[in-house]
Amino acid sequence: MFESKDPQKTSLESLGEFGLIQHLTQAFEIKKPSTLLGIGDDAALMNFGGEDVALTTDMLVEGVHFDLGYTPLKHLGYKAVVVNLSDIYAMNMEPTQLTVSLAVSNRFGLEALEELYAGIYHAAEHYGVDVVGGDTTSSTSGLVISITAIGIAGAIEAVKRSGARPNDLLVVSGDLGAAYLGLQILRREQEVFKVNPQHQPDLEPYSYLVERQLKPEARKDIVGLLAELGVKPTAMIDISDGLSSEILHLCTASRVGCSLYEEKIPLDPTMIGAAEEFNMEVSTVALSGGEDYELLFTISPDDYPKIKGNPNLTVIGHMTDEASGAQLITRTSQSMPLTARGWNSFRQPAGGQND
Ligand code: ADP
Ligand code: MG
Repeated sequence: MFESKDPQKTSLESLGEFGLIQHLTQAFEIKKPSTLLGIGDDAALMNFGGEDVALTTDMLVEGVHFDLGYTPLKHLGYKAVVVNLSDIYAMNMEPTQLTVSLAVSNRFGLEALEELYAGIYHAAEHYGVDVVGGDTTSSTSGLVISITAIGIAGAIEAVKRSGARPNDLLVVSGDLGAAYLGLQILRREQEVFKVNPQHQPDLEPYSYLVERQLKPEARKDIVGLLAELGVKPTAMIDISDGLSSEILHLCTASRVGCSLYEEKIPLDPTMIGAAEEFNMEVSTVALSGGEDYELLFTISPDDYPKIKGNPNLTVIGHMTDEASGAQLITRTSQSMPLTARGWNSFRQPAGGQND
């Protein structure tokens, strides 16, 4: 007790986020017959003798995941719910309830928390989930929001990260990279504002990008669409960190490789324009940007006719055998190993990540 120094201190950065989780949780074994799936997927899966239940939790920390300099509290409340629900949809399931826990410093008054809760309320209404509990405590600095969501499989079956097979097609919903550029725009405007507080930013040309950053939506519609089309993905994950990092998670969990075609990655024209403005490579932004909250999944090639031509879905590659590894096929048809450059909690500065 009262030791003045740590006898030994291994930096967390050297382990990385996933190395750390693995290290800390390696001793845990699944002992309950009701636990179908433990650590390692978007949500845990349980069955209590009836239908499958999914459980997931995510924490947002001021100065790490959000900056109140450019994040309205109402949007923050909405987004805190969305990032959790996205993990339930990533199991192909339907969210039903959530709990909301807060640590709040005395910097915040009632009005601020009312704003935050207006966003939480709006999201709960929009996605049709009940807020059933939480916890409230004080914090010495800043705001921390932790949300836990639960969901059910309903008539459809849960989809894990681990079911992809060689030759399955790799499919993504929506478009990628816009949320990251939205963040760059907000940060740029914030810098200008610091120098000139009279400055009124014109965000209109970037409204799509800023909205993707501040008020993302979880892809509830894709789970419904797949059910309607009669397609059951073989594996699925949501894109919170970045496309490349999520593809690698799918490959690792399914023990397969993949070929991702750079030219197929869906991009919004505003995103392309903004990437050029920031002198960033569009593909790098799309591969590593993060916070898109789109769904990435694999389907059997037999299901291709069912999704072909759907404007919400893009085939961006296919799975291969494990020995081939995860490969990016560039626009010039070169094959290079796909590396995870998703944002890492222990390395990135404040704002715009959701580990
Ligand atoms: P996601 O990005 O989908 O929210 P994460 O990358 O945060 O998932 O987490 C990956 C897996 O590790 C999940 O199954 C999550 O529940 C688990 N996990 C994360 N942090 C911890 C922790 N501190 N202790 C136990 N499990 C954890
Ligand atoms: Mg996830």
